[in-house]
Amino acid sequence: MTDCLFCKIIRHEIPASIVYEDDRILAFNDINPQAPTHVLVVPKRHIATLNELSPEDDQIVGELVRRAAAIAKERGISAGGFRTLFNTNREAGQTVFHIHLHLLGGRTMHWPPG
Ligand code: AMP
Ligand code: ZN
Repeated sequence: MTDCLFCKIIRHEIPASIVYEDDRILAFNDINPQAPTHVLVVPKRHIATLNELSPEDDQIVGELVRRAAAIAKERGISAGGFRTLFNTNREAGQTVFHIHLHLLGGRTMHWPPG
C-alpha cells in the first residue's frame, strides 16, 4: 500500500533498525521502545487490522508469532518472559494500520495493561 508507513519500511523507502527479514516477514526495533526489547514483527503483505484477516492468513500469523518467540530466544528473554500483542483499532491504541506483533521484554510486565 503506497501510503502505509510500514509498507514503506518494508520497501526500504524509510529507514528502520531491522532485526529479521525474509520474503514474507520483516521485524524491526520500535522507534519509541516501551521495554529494553521492543520489536515489531510485520507481514510484508499489507493487512490493515486483525479484523481483515482471512483463513488464508493463518500461516502468516503463525509465522509472526513463531518469529517473535525466536527473537525473544535470541535476546535471552525467553525463560524470564516476554509479552506479545496486537493492538486493533482506536480503543486498543492502534496507530499504524498495518498489522504488527509487538514483542516486549527485558523488564517485568504488569497486568492488566493500561
Ligand atoms: P500501535 O500503536 O500498536 O499501532 O503501534 C505502532 C508502533 O509503531 C508504536 O509503538 C510506534 O512507536 C511504532 N512506530 C511508529 N513509527 C515507527 C517507525 N518509523 N519505525 C519504527 N517504529 C515505529
Ligand atoms: Zn502496509
